[in-house]
Amino acid sequence: MNTFDHGSSIWHPFTQHGLGEPIPLIARAEGALLHTADAEPFVDAISSWWVTTHGHCHPRIMAAIAQQAQKLDQIIFAGWTHEPAEDVARNLRAIMPESLTRVFFSDSGSTSVEVALKMALGYWHGRNEPRHRIVVMEQSYHGDTIGAMSVGARGVFNRPYEPLLFDVARIPFPHPGAEQATLDALESFCKARQTAALIVEPLVLGAGGMLMYGAETLAAMHAICQRHGVLFIADEVMTGWGRTGTLLACDQAGVVPDILCLSKGLTGGAVPLAVTMASEPVFQAHWSADRARMFFHSSSYTANPIACAAAGANLAIWREEPVLDRIATLAARQSAWLEKLGRFCHFDNPRQCGTIAALDLKTRGEGGYMDDLAPLLMTFFRDRGVLLRPLGNTVYVMPPYCITEEQLGQVWDAIGEAVISF
Ligand SMILES: *Cc1c(COP(=O)(O)O)cnc(C)c1O
Repeated sequence: MNTFDHGSSIWHPFTQHGLGEPIPLIARAEGALLHTADAEPFVDAISSWWVTTHGHCHPRIMAAIAQQAQKLDQIIFAGWTHEPAEDVARNLRAIMPESLTRVFFSDSGSTSVEVALKMALGYWHGRNEPRHRIVVMEQSYHGDTIGAMSVGARGVFNRPYEPLLFDVARIPFPHPGAEQATLDALESFCKARQTAALIVEPLVLGAGGMLMYGAETLAAMHAICQRHGVLFIADEVMTGWGRTGTLLACDQAGVVPDILCLSKGLTGGAVPLAVTMASEPVFQAHWSADRARMFFHSSSYTANPIACAAAGANLAIWREEPVLDRIATLAARQSAWLEKLGRFCHFDNPRQCGTIAALDLKTRGEGGYMDDLAPLLMTFFRDRGVLLRPLGNTVYVMPPYCITEEQLGQVWDAIGEAVISF
């Protein structure tokens, strides 16, 4: 099998097989590089879809996985426990906001969101005040399962499934200068008796096009929810683990959510795992001697010990290594590149939040996710040894924190070339 031609029966995610686009075969990865068997490596400028934080095959994380694999594979987690999960829970408690006292494990960002929504409704059910309305922000993304799609933006991605999606209340994205409209809409929804929770991606809407808004707006949204007793769910599946410059994006707004979703970087991006952290009142609303009031959620692989060992190693890296310094260095390099490129060529809406930098290319199409520019750009970048996957006409760079100055330069050189070529 060579790099691109490997007759395969795999049905790939978010891939239109009818276009016959080549599918690179990756044999191994290290740091910010993806290696094929027979070609130059690719620089992974999107952290393999936002999961890889410290770098691919990080030695500490891979060693923890190898060690754990000698001892314990999978055990039932309903009513049983194991040290790797206990270690993750203890160390999450130590590093995450103090009032998030409970750690519920699941397997992916989408399931962590499903769990959060079920916890929120369970909270109100347990208080005999059955509220069910969820408030969401327009252009949000929370995953691809039915519940997660329901609280996300509607569009071409979920049109066939729309009859199955439940109704939510939508507040507009807080575009610069229009923040008050967002806050006013939230206030009016929060006044309604049936409103259970707000779910948001703090500071950066990832799949929505790397849309960024200010910490003051995030803080103001949280204050409105608090004032009305509406639960605040922070979906930090993408923004967590340093992406925005701080451990959590919420930290920049001084916001502590009632429910927090974490996945992607939880294991450093090595293996799948997620947690939904909850405040004590959310847990207590399910606490009872009545078995009919327990939290009814589980999946077969809840808190897989090998995945937990990877998360434990990630937490150790955060405790013991200067991760925030690496992030600050990367953020400074990203802003320098964005500024440099802006001096030589023209593009719209340059923006940055921590390690994430984005810009919009001019397009003759309609813009947005289905813009025809995206696949052309992807190929253009791949031909230059760079993995970038633009969101429509939005090009963004979200690399692993270990990316070298030279590798980052290769990425931005390719972007500069694309800006003047398209
Ligand atoms: C990626 C993502 C999800 C979904 O996570 P999966 O692990 O892909 O299910 C949910 N929310 C946000 C904000 C994400 O970026």
